[in-house]
Amino acid sequence: MKIVLLGAPGAGKGTQATRIAEKYGVVHISTGDIFRKNLKEGTPVGLKAKAFIDKGQLVPDEVTCEIVAERLKEKDCEKGFMLDGFPRNVMQAEALDKMSDVDLVLNIAVDLDKLMARLTGRRVCRECGESYHVSTFAGNKCSKCGGEVIQRADDTEETVGKRLKVYSEQTQPLIDYYTAKGKLQSVDGMKPIDEVFAEVVTVLDKVK
Ligand code: ADP
Ligand code: AMP
Repeated sequence: MKIVLLGAPGAGKGTQATRIAEKYGVVHISTGDIFRKNLKEGTPVGLKAKAFIDKGQLVPDEVTCEIVAERLKEKDCEKGFMLDGFPRNVMQAEALDKMSDVDLVLNIAVDLDKLMARLTGRRVCRECGESYHVSTFAGNKCSKCGGEVIQRADDTEETVGKRLKVYSEQTQPLIDYYTAKGKLQSVDGMKPIDEVFAEVVTVLDKVK
């Protein structure tokens, strides 16, 4: 299956992606994770991306599209992939159309005014990327891999505000873009995590 997870920052893309990857064995490609890995390793891409990530802006399309194009050429993507956080604007969606023909765009629909609390309370594992929330998670050890659980530098109130604005202006139009292509299916991301996943499975079982 070749799928795209669409949704605002904090909609639950990463949370659902982990579960989808486990159940369907599909490769999870998160552009945010790729940038953070590059940042940690101090690569030229990481250094370039840092200024944009810190300001809550999108990393330039040419950098992002090149990274995804190269990643999709890798062997593990031959049977399919799941993109998380890409595309994020119409230009990136058009670039993806040239790279591959995706089966489905799964939109995780949420109330934007609930996302500030989700994102400022988010904690993530440094090693495996698993997402937690302070309301249900205490401590600093990942229950999946034992890695250190930290707060992302861009999950501050100020940067989240900017990222939500970027979403409304640049990413939300992709809902219409993929609806027009007959590829969009939505699930209700305001439900509890397990219920969202049950909806996701209902949709994905038809794609398999
Ligand atoms: P995204 O990858 O879309 O930015 P995450 O999956 O990292 O979002 O989730 C953001 C935060 O919201 C995390 O703290 C996560 O635990 C929490 N979360 C995810 N899905 C739900 C949900 N359905 N209900 C409540 N909280 C959720
Ligand atoms: P995410 O992990 O998806 O929340 O992304 C974190 C940050 O990485 C974003 O705020 C952007 O600065 C950058 N980023 C991730 N994916 C993209 C993308 N497709 N295009 C541009 N920037 C991106």
